[in-house]
Amino acid sequence: MTTFSSVPAPSDAPLISVRGVRKSYGSLHALNNVSFNVMEGEKVFLIGPSGSGKSTMLRCLNRLEIIQAGQILVEGKDIYDSTCDICRLRQDMGMVFQSFNLFPHLNVLENLILCPVRLRGMTRAEAADLADALLRRTGLADKKYAFPDELSGGQKQRAAITRALAMKPRIMLFDEPTSALDPEMTGEVLDVMTDLARDGMTMVVVTHEMGFAREAADRILFMDQGEILEQGSPHDIFSSPQHPRLRSFLRQMSR
Ligand code: ADP
Ligand code: MG
Repeated sequence: MTTFSSVPAPSDAPLISVRGVRKSYGSLHALNNVSFNVMEGEKVFLIGPSGSGKSTMLRCLNRLEIIQAGQILVEGKDIYDSTCDICRLRQDMGMVFQSFNLFPHLNVLENLILCPVRLRGMTRAEAADLADALLRRTGLADKKYAFPDELSGGQKQRAAITRALAMKPRIMLFDEPTSALDPEMTGEVLDVMTDLARDGMTMVVVTHEMGFAREAADRILFMDQGEILEQGSPHDIFSSPQHPRLRSFLRQMSR
């Protein structure tokens, strides 16, 4: 086979490249020289104690925060450059939060149609077809005309994920998507995320669900006090953690 080693194939380039990012709130260093890459189709999980900078890192990825140093490249483009099209960036990155943030005055279908029509230029019929297909996939076809306050927590979060998918994002960011849910509803949301992961979606996930991280992650980054202290495969992280703070974090999580 002929290879052109000096010319990397496009797929060799990371989809997201975080390089030496620093973010402070006053004197507090929320992110302190954070660097990592995410390849196309990769599932990168961020774990770590509360306050370690995980949410801040996710928010920086779609420029919801300003940073004091470093660079974040998405598809090779510096997202903090003044020429970056932030609207486009955010359309390509679906974000799912702990609180579901559905539009309360719109039913599920209208929640799903609104942004694709306004921002992606889809016709209402196209957006409705896509919504139907996605709702079948996330198990919510029978809730299409329900309003958010008629849904359980697990259904709301599945609707929020479906809404993010309706924008046809290239990357999905999840910030503790199950931590506001009763335990019996966590599984249904993790099932939807597992399905998405198997389908090849590039995902950056913050979670305290260690069993899920172990199963679904390609790579896990352990953060503490604004730094990545250790990273590796689920096997590395859970079976042979090196850093004392990672070990103590995992002990606490397993209690
Ligand atoms: P995590 O998601 O890991 O719990 P965060 O990224 O939310 O951590 O927070 C990292 C640190 O930054 C914490 O010390 C937190 O108190 C602080 N922080 C986060 N957001 C703000 C803000 N808007 N203003 C001031 N401090 C903040
Ligand atoms: Mg957080």
